[in-house]
Amino acid sequence: MDASGDFRFDGRVAIVTGAGRGLGRSHALLLGALGAKVVVNDVGGTKEGEGSDDGPANEVAGQITAAGGTAVPDTNSVAAEEGCHALVATALREFGRVDIVVNNAGISRFASFPEADAENLDKTLDVHLRGTWHTTRAAWPYLAEQGYGRVITTTSTGMFGLADNLAYATAKGALIGFTRSLAMAAAPHGIRVNAVAPNAVTRPSTSAAKPNITTTAQSEARQRALATDLVSPMVAYLAHERCDVNGEILVAGAHRFARWFLGVTPGYLSAADGVPAVEEIAGHWDEINDPGGYYVPESLRDWSAKFMAHLAR
Ligand code: NAD
Repeated sequence: MDASGDFRFDGRVAIVTGAGRGLGRSHALLLGALGAKVVVNDVGGTKEGEGSDDGPANEVAGQITAAGGTAVPDTNSVAAEEGCHALVATALREFGRVDIVVNNAGISRFASFPEADAENLDKTLDVHLRGTWHTTRAAWPYLAEQGYGRVITTTSTGMFGLADNLAYATAKGALIGFTRSLAMAAAPHGIRVNAVAPNAVTRPSTSAAKPNITTTAQSEARQRALATDLVSPMVAYLAHERCDVNGEILVAGAHRFARWFLGVTPGYLSAADGVPAVEEIAGHWDEINDPGGYYVPESLRDWSAKFMAHLAR
């Protein structure tokens, strides 16, 4: 890796949650190698979110410093609001500022209905959604005050449909609404907020409950293509001051980098005078679903202008 290029992070302070293993570890190592001072946060629990271990955070922070970078470990859990505030306090205490928040920490508790119960939902939302919410909110006053910040959230293509991990897909879907809406609020403050949907082989992907990913049978080339460090350059790009992208979702992994967008079909317009019968909906199903001429709304206002364009005529 060329660490002397245009995209350096000297003077910047980055918080990376869940940075003791998997993708977060790769993000933290890259940001550290490119000159950022990194707060390596990781509670060190199981992939289901049980227990704690200082080892992973300490190890990654040690790796960054051994390579000549600057990093501190932080073992607070982002599953509790006070942990998120304590994490941001670590950045301020150790490095005096915070510029970048990479919300990456995650757990996976495979279950669908009816097994996926309230505890499954709460534990999942606590880490993925509330952890992202509270960590970003704890950093927000400092980002807004300095008129600069880069926030990255971690969503998942599981949102396209993941029957056996319902709470996870739900949390990752919620993060898309969070990312896009916060991006709008962030823009006037010089803050940019974007989501990454990674694709890599890590601890959760090796779950027995995900039989379509057969890591043991995968070829070495495939394993290498699904390495976590193939996701991190996208995270680092979104974390850089030269990147002005805001409110977008980027898919990264296996050597592919792509935009994921939310589109709406032009649909079917019923007669202005009257309420259509149910049969009319059924009869125009193809038109309602036809993706030809779809649009990608930038905001609620943009969607509204397009969806109700006929009322303006
Ligand atoms: P991983 O289990 O290897 O790493 C996640 C790390 O987060 C672990 O080290 C864990 O200890 C830490 N963590 C969990 N709960 C925490 C908490 N409350 N506070 C602090 N740290 C906590 O998994 P990964 O695959 O590297 O996942 C990283 C992120 O990427 C997750 O948000 C995951 O949902 C997302 N993701 C991964 C993939 C993939 O292909 N691997 C796909 C889509 C999304």
